[in-house]
Amino acid sequence: MLCPRCNLDLDALGVGRGQAHGCPTCRGVWLDDEALSALMNERAEALAAGAPRFRPEHDEQRLLQCPVCSLLMKKVERYYVQTDGCQRHGVWFDQGELGFAARGVLEERARQAAEAAAAAEVVSPGERWARNQERSAAMLRELQPEPASEPVSLFDDDSEY
Ligand SMILES: [Zn+2]
Ligand SMILES: [Zn+2]
Repeated sequence: MLCPRCNLDLDALGVGRGQAHGCPTCRGVWLDDEALSALMNERAEALAAGAPRFRPEHDEQRLLQCPVCSLLMKKVERYYVQTDGCQRHGVWFDQGELGFAARGVLEERARQAAEAAAAAEVVSPGERWARNQERSAAMLRELQPEPASEPVSLFDDDSEY
């Protein structure tokens, strides 16, 4: 199987379920649907570690060929990332995009967990009042001007400039 970006051989990657191949040259990854959902469900943390904070920029205009059937792939949205996908065979993630997608999955998971926790929490009116007071106090503290900080020296104190 050839890399849709560089036309060089892809390496098979073991992901447990489904088919995954990686390009050792451009570091892109080709995944079928099963491998993609298995990775996002089971290894999102590992994938997101060290992933770029911003979506990596690639040549978004160029249409890529499916490495399985060679048909031109379509731009598809998968896990908050615009990728190239073949309806029948899988999805291509350029370098960094899979990690970026995994980060999106984790953020969404955390958001849902926080929402569920907030929904499950029963707060008495008195407690809510106390919390609001605390929040206002914290906001007021943030509005206070910062104490003047020491000027930052660019040089070590003992250097002779
Ligand atoms: Zn490649
Ligand atoms: Zn295909």
